[in-house]
Amino acid sequence: MENQYEIVMGLETHVRIKSETKMFCACRNAVELADEPNLHTCPYCMAFPGALPVLNERVIDLAVRAGQALRCTVNETSIFDRKSYFYPDNPSGFQITQLYHPIVQHGVVRAMVGDEVKSFKIERMHIEADAGKLIHSGNKTLCDYNRAGSPLMEIVTEPDFRSKEDVIGYLEELQKLMRWCGASNADMEKGQLRCDVNISIRKPGETILNNRVELKNINSFSAIGRAIDNEFKRQIKIVEAGGKVPQETRGWDDEKGMSSSQRSKEDAMDYRYFPEPDLPPLVISKEFIEARAIGDLPIDRRMKYVNEYKLQADDARILSASRELSDFYEELVKLSGDAKKSCSYITTILFKIMQDYNIRSVFWDIHDFTNLSFSTNELAEVINLVNKDELSSTNSKIVIEELFKRWKDGNTNKIIDELHLRQVSDTGALKTIAERVLADNPGQVAEYKSGKENLFGFFVGQCMKASAGQGNPKMFTEILKGIL
Ligand SMILES: [Zn+2]
Repeated sequence: MENQYEIVMGLETHVRIKSETKMFCACRNAVELADEPNLHTCPYCMAFPGALPVLNERVIDLAVRAGQALRCTVNETSIFDRKSYFYPDNPSGFQITQLYHPIVQHGVVRAMVGDEVKSFKIERMHIEADAGKLIHSGNKTLCDYNRAGSPLMEIVTEPDFRSKEDVIGYLEELQKLMRWCGASNADMEKGQLRCDVNISIRKPGETILNNRVELKNINSFSAIGRAIDNEFKRQIKIVEAGGKVPQETRGWDDEKGMSSSQRSKEDAMDYRYFPEPDLPPLVISKEFIEARAIGDLPIDRRMKYVNEYKLQADDARILSASRELSDFYEELVKLSGDAKKSCSYITTILFKIMQDYNIRSVFWDIHDFTNLSFSTNELAEVINLVNKDELSSTNSKIVIEELFKRWKDGNTNKIIDELHLRQVSDTGALKTIAERVLADNPGQVAEYKSGKENLFGFFVGQCMKASAGQGNPKMFTEILKGIL
C-alpha cells in the first residue's frame, strides 16, 4: 500500500542561538540547563509593567552568520511582530517574533543522503524569543522562566522532503552548519535543536499539496524516523478508508510509538499578529552582512576530499564534520603536500592519542582540535620525514605522542635526535652493519645458502637490532640480497 502513495514533508526547526545573554535583556541565556529554576530572570523577561526590550546585537550577529551558512538572502530590514497568546509559560501574554519580514529568506541546504548530494530549499529563517518551561508534577504545574526570552532561530523549509532519509540527512547537515558558523551547538538532546515535521501524502505524479499534519515533540534523531513512518501509515489508512486527513497539530509520543491530536491547525488570525510597538524595524548594513560571509561549507569540503584528495567517503565525512578539525586538516595538507597521509595521521594516530589522553570536544562525537598542544608545522614535518625515509612510520607514532606530551615546546627534529629515532639511509653505513651481521652468524649464512630461505628475515631483524632500530629496513633488504 505504501508504494501507492508519496510522502511530502517540510520542516520547521527551532535552533537555540548561542549568545551569552537573552534576546532583549541582560539575563544569562539558557543555552545549557541552569542550576535551579528562575535563576536568570529580570523585570523585563518576567513582563513587569513598564519594562522594555533592548535588542542584543550578538543575537543578530549570530543569526546573520547562520543565514550565510544557509546560503540565504539576509535582509537589510526586517520587522519584529507581536504574537499574542495566553499561557502560563509566557508571562507577557505575547511572543516577539518576525512574521511578515523575516531577517533571512530564500536559501538552500545541500546534504548527503546515501551517496547523493541533495538540495533542500529554505523558505525563511526568523528570530524570536523563547517561552519558559512548565513542569507538571502531580496535580501541580511549576513554572521555570530561565528560558523565557532566550533567542531562537526558526528555520522553515519548502516541502522538499520525500523520505525520512531526506529529513535525517538535512537535519544532520543543519546541525553541522550551525556549529560551523558558530550560531549554535544545535545539540538535540539538550533542546538546542527542535524539529517539527509537516507531513501530507498524495499519489505519485500529483503536484497538489493535501492537508498536512504538523508533528511536534520529536526529541531525537532516532525518534524522527519512527514518527514519520507512523504518520505516513496513519494518513494512508484514513485515505484508504475513504476519508480526508484533517489539518491538525499532533504530538509524538516516542515511548508509546504513536501520536495524538493536540489542536486543529490555527490560523494566523488567532494570534492577532501586529508589528511590535516597542521595537523599531531592525536595519543592518550591507557591510555588517558581508563581514559575516562564510566560504566553504562542510559539504564543500567533504566533496573536495572525495573528488580531489581521493579520500575514502567515511574519512571525508569525519574530516569535514567540524570546522576546527577541517581547518586543521586543510592546513596540514598545505604544509605537507600529502592529502592521504595527512588524513591517516589524523584519523588513526592523532585520534588514538586524543582518545588515550581523554581529550574530547564539547560535542560528543568530535575531538577538540582548538586546543591541540602542538602546531600543524610539527605534524607536517613528521609526515615529510616519513616521506623522505628519514623516519619510519612506526617511530613516527612515538614522535607524535612525544610532541603531544611536551605541550607547546615540542619540536619534531629535536625529539627524533634525542630519542635516536632518525632512520639511517646512508648506504655505506648500512652495508658495514650488514656485513658484520653476516660475519657474526656464519652458521645461519651456511644454512641459508643450502636452501633455508626463510632465514632472510632473521638477517634483516639482526641488522635492525644492530642499528638500534634506526636502519632503513627496505635498504637492509636490498643490501642483504646483494651480498647473499
Ligand atoms: Zn531578563
